[in-house]
Amino acid sequence: MPASFETVIGLEIHCQLLTETKIFCGCRTAFGAAPNTHVCPVCLGLPGALPVLNRQAVACALRAALALECEIQPVSIFARKNYFYPDLPKGYQISQYDRPLALGGRVPLSHGTVALTRIHMEEDAGKSLHHGFPDSAGHTYLDFNRAGTPLIEIVTEPDLRSAAEAADCFSRLREILVAIGVNDGNMEEGSLRCDANVSLRPVGQAAYGAKAEVKNVNSFRFLEKALEFEIERQRGILESGGRVAQETRLWDSATGTTESMRSKEEANDYRYFPEPDLPALVVDAAWVASVRETMPELPAARVARFIREYALSEYDADVLGRLIPGAAPYFEAAVRSGASAKTASNWIQGEVRRRLKDAGADDLSASPVGPAQLAELTTLVDTNIVSTSVAKDVFDEMWVTGTGARAIVDARGLAQIGDLEALAALADAVIAANPGPVAQYRSGKTQTFGFLVGAVMKASKGKANPAAASNILRGRLDAGQGHSESE
Ligand code: ADP
Ligand code: ZN
Ligand code: MG
Repeated sequence: MPASFETVIGLEIHCQLLTETKIFCGCRTAFGAAPNTHVCPVCLGLPGALPVLNRQAVACALRAALALECEIQPVSIFARKNYFYPDLPKGYQISQYDRPLALGGRVPLSHGTVALTRIHMEEDAGKSLHHGFPDSAGHTYLDFNRAGTPLIEIVTEPDLRSAAEAADCFSRLREILVAIGVNDGNMEEGSLRCDANVSLRPVGQAAYGAKAEVKNVNSFRFLEKALEFEIERQRGILESGGRVAQETRLWDSATGTTESMRSKEEANDYRYFPEPDLPALVVDAAWVASVRETMPELPAARVARFIREYALSEYDADVLGRLIPGAAPYFEAAVRSGASAKTASNWIQGEVRRRLKDAGADDLSASPVGPAQLAELTTLVDTNIVSTSVAKDVFDEMWVTGTGARAIVDARGLAQIGDLEALAALADAVIAANPGPVAQYRSGKTQTFGFLVGAVMKASKGKANPAAASNILRGRLDAGQGHSESE
């Protein structure tokens, strides 16, 4: 019988920090500029050029470390990570090694949390371009605009236990980094990049197995697929009695497979040593406190507050607080304008979202019907002035014309018939016009009641308050019982 295996995954995530300028020079960090237009002696690594640490980059890194509940280190050290690559003109990358900016921390997952090992600061490399130039057959071009872009590397503990959990972790991390304004979340442009380490071990064994590091997985879906492939590949090797090689593998989204890139053993000696051109990075308590003061509410905290403060279900709180862009401020503004939380939540997830999607938009801030206008409409529904189905028509008109809900209801005479005499007259007319169903109801076949209520609603052109109509109809059907039999 084959042994069963447990999956072990740890992620290393590189996050470009949203600063105006690079980490050690004044060049701009703008993406998409003409190649080699944002470069200087420092980021080109010319001899004699000296790095100066960008305070804004440290502030961004601190912000991320605080949001992820790390312990910020009062003193951290930059180090040279030496390796040769054409996109690394200095021959080394300035990074942090044994004394990183932050230790520990956690990422909240859909179920539970995952512990972080550390967050350190470093500079990005340039880019090698092998394709896309008319004259590039056989040539590689180098663009150093990205060289020196500030990064943080976020390292998780090997505590993730499935491909889906790893994808959840990456996605939750992205959400937090974007929410606190330190990253633009753009994985296609490489602003956020993920390397996934994965190994298997027999269930019950404490020691970890040999791991593969999978590079080049820059979407949640690809991360999950690459890990699923890799888990099955390793399982195949282990079940047939083989050994998994400790190596770096490259994900190929075209084939849906990973392929060996280099063996880890031979690639691993970076000869780290402290960067002599930079002083120790000293972060005092006052700096940490000032960063903390500007921290917005984080997604997970907001979801918890929505459940507490508005009595929303976990599902609704998650959708409004996290998943629909722009929904949280929209929802809270609607409630401040008098909407009930539950009705506002339903309308935002229903009509507002549907119309926005039809219009090709995503973010609630693009809705032509604003939160106060929506509140006016949902209040008409909650106070039974219009039914939900009439309100949907009103909403469509609001969307197109920008007119307020009350004004549309008044102009089109859409207010529900709530006054009892008018309803009673409608109910009598329906009873008179439907002797068959009425007789059935009175003989105990109460299933016909729904049909009769429907007839009252129809006679009112949808404007009867359904609950009131049904009460009055039932009263008259039951009261008329004896009368009907004596006829
Ligand atoms: P390396 O020395 O290869 O850089 P580290 O111990 O620094 O490895 O860990 C790098 C990443 O790999 C971390 O995210 C860590 O959680 C993860 N990791 C370490 N060992 C394993 C393992 N056996 N299986 C899966 N992931 C692992
Ligand atoms: Zn520069
Ligand atoms: Mg390591």
